[in-house]
Amino acid sequence: MRTPFIAGNWKMNTTVSEAIKLVGEMKPQLESTSGIEIVVCPPFVSLIAVREALKGSRIKLGAQNMHFQEKGAFTGEVSPLMLAGLCDYVILGHSERRQYFGETSEIVSRKVKAALKVGIIPILCVGENLAEIEAGRTKEIVTTQLVESLLGVEMPGGLVIAYEPVWAIGTGRAATGPQSEGVINLIREAAAGLYGQAFGQDVRVLYGGSVTAENIAEFVGQPDIDGALVGGASLKAEQFVSIVKKTAQMKKV
Ligand code: PEP
Repeated sequence: MRTPFIAGNWKMNTTVSEAIKLVGEMKPQLESTSGIEIVVCPPFVSLIAVREALKGSRIKLGAQNMHFQEKGAFTGEVSPLMLAGLCDYVILGHSERRQYFGETSEIVSRKVKAALKVGIIPILCVGENLAEIEAGRTKEIVTTQLVESLLGVEMPGGLVIAYEPVWAIGTGRAATGPQSEGVINLIREAAAGLYGQAFGQDVRVLYGGSVTAENIAEFVGQPDIDGALVGGASLKAEQFVSIVKKTAQMKKV
């Protein structure tokens, strides 16, 4: 049994007061939902304020990135120790980090290890770009990213994987349910190759890329897609709430 999972990646959006307002709108509408894990990932500067605003709530908190070193001369970076006790989750290896900040899978693997060491669960992102899908390289890219991002990582308990085709992120051009389900099954196979069949079956795998309240059912209607990593639509309380509620409803056993 995999608990469904919806996470909102707010990216570089919201001031501190906007973040508090947004979470304040979501919170009362989500408290009655059950059987689903809900996570919001605001910018670093809002983490403490959002944590306060979420006190007593069932909504969990995630960061969008993290350095792998615990401390030191890394101007502008945020360390695992700073996030420990503050965040439950951290998004690692997001394609925007890979694309704009030169993050390689080798760096991501160090971050995964560092997060697990301090008790923060990684939401590990993998996905192919447009040229790669057009060249029929999705399987190769996604499995290589997964294996390399988990290199040297011992059994990553609780790990969440997000399949995020780069061509679908922020473009309004989502993948289809069956297409994503196919790739997610390849991801499960690769995960099973690393950590055994049970892990491949039990690890939660999300779809991400232009998810909205209107198309979420297409994805969570697939048996092996456990939820979504939501970007743009997570900045609108009513969209996010509807995505969570529809997922909880569709995945109800
Ligand atoms: C994301 O950034 O992880 C994402 C999926 O964005 P969007 O939903 O806006 O495509």
